Amino acid sequence: MNAADLTAWIRRAAELVAADAERLTELDAAIGDGDHGHNLARGLAAAVDVLDELPADASPQQVLTTAGRTLVSKTGGASGALYGMALRRAGKALKVDEIDARWLGAALREALAGVQDLGKAEEGDKTMVDALARAVAAFDAARHEGADLAGAARAAAAAAEEGAQATVPMQARKGRASYLGPRSVGHLDPGAASTALILRALADVTGG
Ligand code: ADP
Ligand code: MG
Ligand code: MG
Repeated sequence: MNAADLTAWIRRAAELVAADAERLTELDAAIGDGDHGHNLARGLAAAVDVLDELPADASPQQVLTTAGRTLVSKTGGASGALYGMALRRAGKALKVDEIDARWLGAALREALAGVQDLGKAEEGDKTMVDALARAVAAFDAARHEGADLAGAARAAAAAAEEGAQATVPMQARKGRASYLGPRSVGHLDPGAASTALILRALADVTGG
């Protein structure tokens, strides 16, 4: 995986989120303020535009840190800051031009650490962390069992989807949904749902 593949990942994530923007926004309308899908679609589209302008020899680190900075400024809201941090931290972890499964695993771990450092959410708080933490764990587990990058990315995407679904019975303890208290139970967390799409996009571009 190289810088061009990472750009393809962000492009694929932008496509998947745009296609599902209405659903994500409805999920956010149920337990938040109803802006998640459209805000994230706008932020990712802006990131794609900025990446298209990067020089051809841009590094993996530049691709992800640039995408992260753009998300912070163009998405807005909690998720813009959190996804922006995730991509910037993942990018900083990438110090080579050719990324193997080990490097990608390290980048995903940094993304999770960035989200948790900023947002202070733990698993079980009904946030994107529930999808991302499972994805990171599944990626590493698959890698240790000998999976290649595509196989590990496929495992991560499946785990992110499971993690998102697992938020349904949870009561939110972070973000806007926490203001609802017990009334947040029974709804899928929008940020966990978008994280599952972003991991799906990663699996798609790696062939997983
Ligand atoms: P906002 O609530 O500011 O409108 P979004 O609607 O774009 O932001 O994103 C909401 C999502 O952000 C939630 O569904 C949740 O997954 C995630 N989120 C909110 N606060 C946190 C937090 N402290 N840690 C991790 N994720 C969070
Ligand atoms: Mg919102
Ligand atoms: Mg908002």
